[in-house]
Amino acid sequence: MVTLPNRTSPKTRTSITVMIALTIRRLAGSRAPTPSLIRSMASARRQALETIPSTPIKVLRTVDAVRKWRKPQVLDHRIVSLVPTMGALHEGHLSLIRAAARESHHVVVSIYVNPAQFGIKEDLSSYPVTWNRDCKVLAELDRELADDGGNLGRISAVFAPPTSEMYPSGFPGQEVDSKGSFVVMTPVSELLEGRTRPTFFRGVATVCMKLFNIVQPEKVYFGQKDVQQTVVIRNMVRDFMLPIDVVIGSTSREPDGLALSSRNVYLGERRRKVAIVLNRALKAAEEQYKAGALDRESILGAANAVATSTLNDQMALSPEKRVKYEVDYISLADPSTMEEIQEVDPKVGGILSGALKMLPVESPQPGEDLGHSGGPAVRLIDNIVLERSC
Ligand code: AMP
Repeated sequence: MVTLPNRTSPKTRTSITVMIALTIRRLAGSRAPTPSLIRSMASARRQALETIPSTPIKVLRTVDAVRKWRKPQVLDHRIVSLVPTMGALHEGHLSLIRAAARESHHVVVSIYVNPAQFGIKEDLSSYPVTWNRDCKVLAELDRELADDGGNLGRISAVFAPPTSEMYPSGFPGQEVDSKGSFVVMTPVSELLEGRTRPTFFRGVATVCMKLFNIVQPEKVYFGQKDVQQTVVIRNMVRDFMLPIDVVIGSTSREPDGLALSSRNVYLGERRRKVAIVLNRALKAAEEQYKAGALDRESILGAANAVATSTLNDQMALSPEKRVKYEVDYISLADPSTMEEIQEVDPKVGGILSGALKMLPVESPQPGEDLGHSGGPAVRLIDNIVLERSC
């Protein structure tokens, strides 16, 4: 076997590899590998060597590349964790990666905008894709992790596959009745978010099952921000006996309380100021619980009052100043099923959650910041855990 020094440039490596192949072929007759096979081997090797610039973080794009990287970690008993993301990384994602690095030798971050979890009318085509920025953010975070002696590991790899790799039988489509290999978690997937987005959790559960099978992590990290998703993933891991610990990280927020989200870039300045109404409404409901209320009417009444009065205030403004929104739901649910409850059992606690649709701004003003992609309607979600009190 011929080993080329690692410092050899990729182009030189390919030419040398092809020359060696031609020589072997001449010596061995036509059963030796063809130059095109060798070229594709060289390209596979180049891909395996791809890293985020100035870092040791590997960029893996195929299932095969992840498997090759993963195998020695199993033999070395290294703990591998996975943080699944759709990119457009923000502090919420980074907090999950930090938590993963504290508890595992190798952190794999997946960046994949999974089309199956977008409805046909949703924002797949305009979803922010910020690969170069994400790489810089990960490089910076990895340096921070390296300097912090409290971590077990660092970011070892980013898994960024194309859709052809994730759906080897072909992408099944985004329709409710699409045919294909899906993981469907009911009834939780049909509630709350699932009512407005009937294919969402099917897409999430399916892609997460694939990611878990590819990376084979001991631990996976998800954000509390998407509370219903955490229930779907926990149920999937339990019901399919996956040997994985599911770790939930708390919600990262802007200083005024708005939950960080890759979709906040759509808001623009005018809607950004009003978007905090959802968190204010949920906090008002939490106050009721903290003050001793356990019944649904008192708790949710407080949230609905904030949502209604804020909208009334907005409607009193002129069209070029105001912001309109529609409340999709404000819910009080059981923490393990997400089914609505009439009363909170203090031994169990509850989940207050809500979704708002911020409508596009009316009468946009010249030069006004309308947000990413011209500021389409934006759906915001948030939640607060009502902690068990005994
Ligand atoms: P996404 O890229 O939106 O699919 O999110 C990837 C992961 O980051 C999911 O587990 C989310 O729940 C989590 N996440 C998103 N926003 C936040 C946030 N503000 N705080 C904590 N985790 C978050």
